[in-house]
Amino acid sequence: IERLRGRLSKSRSSLGQGLLGLLGAGDLDEDSWQDVEDTLLIADLGSATTTEIVEKLRAELSSRGVRTPEQARAVLKDVLTDALGRDDDRSVRALPHTGGPDGKRPAVVLVAGVNGTGKTTTTGKLARVLVVQGRQVLLGAADTFRAAAAEQLQTWSERVGAEVVRGKEGADPAAVAYDAVKRGIDTGVDAVLIDTAGRLHTKTGLMDELGKVKRVVEKQAEVDEVLLVLDATTGQNGLAQARVFAEVVNVTGIVLTKLDGTAKGGIVFQVQRELGVPVKLVGLGEGPDDLAPFEPAAFVDALLG
Ligand code: GDP
Repeated sequence: IERLRGRLSKSRSSLGQGLLGLLGAGDLDEDSWQDVEDTLLIADLGSATTTEIVEKLRAELSSRGVRTPEQARAVLKDVLTDALGRDDDRSVRALPHTGGPDGKRPAVVLVAGVNGTGKTTTTGKLARVLVVQGRQVLLGAADTFRAAAAEQLQTWSERVGAEVVRGKEGADPAAVAYDAVKRGIDTGVDAVLIDTAGRLHTKTGLMDELGKVKRVVEKQAEVDEVLLVLDATTGQNGLAQARVFAEVVNVTGIVLTKLDGTAKGGIVFQVQRELGVPVKLVGLGEGPDDLAPFEPAAFVDALLG
């Protein structure tokens, strides 16, 4: 929690402290409620979520007869945690299946997202999380359009202790993904993580690339998880990208990266509501251990820290 608090310091000082300051001061007049609303909007919670949260806060503050800053904090914590979907299933499905050649078939995870969002870094960090848990991981470098991507994934693979399958530069992403899954099945690893191509020129282009990767992979093994990586600092743009991805593939979880670099951490509320897909992981820095499971209550605690 201490670490999370530190990494979220930008959002904490604007959003968390802002709300605590306004709500902890006792009875709120209409101007103060306007300030609450503005604080939420500025932190990128979006207008629908903002309206809903303000209404709930007003109702809860009066029904619970809130008098002290501590009581106000408790109400804030409840309302914000509820808005994030307190009990959603956020587990990343990266456990192996039975039924492969040696009784085991790897879990298959596709990592998708626009270039620059932190896709490759997230793939590396996720491998690290799994390796630390004692699992054998294989990485597939299917982002063959960005020359540096395979190189970068190779570096991650050495850093975390996972094999990597690469194609030649410009190779078909689907072919590399296929080879990676095949190798994963043959060598009996627990999970295959595939870094997919992140070009988003047109929806059709994306559909061709990402849709094809998924289809081809599914000739050998079911895809357990499609993680969409979104950069928290890109706000509405990121949301628009996410909608396109969600139309193309069945996204099963969101990874929100660079939350350490933004005061607009409220985007997490909006992403989840707009896409109807749970935020499963958050990126809190560039290092190998800077990927954390997303836990609404802990997140809100850190914001209000
Ligand atoms: P890709 O093009 O989507 O594969 O993006 P990369 O994985 O290459 O990441 C782009 C940049 O964002 C790199 O400099 C990463 O170190 C950085 N990055 C990725 N995730 C995070 C994060 O959670 N926090 C911060 N501060 N930087 C990140």
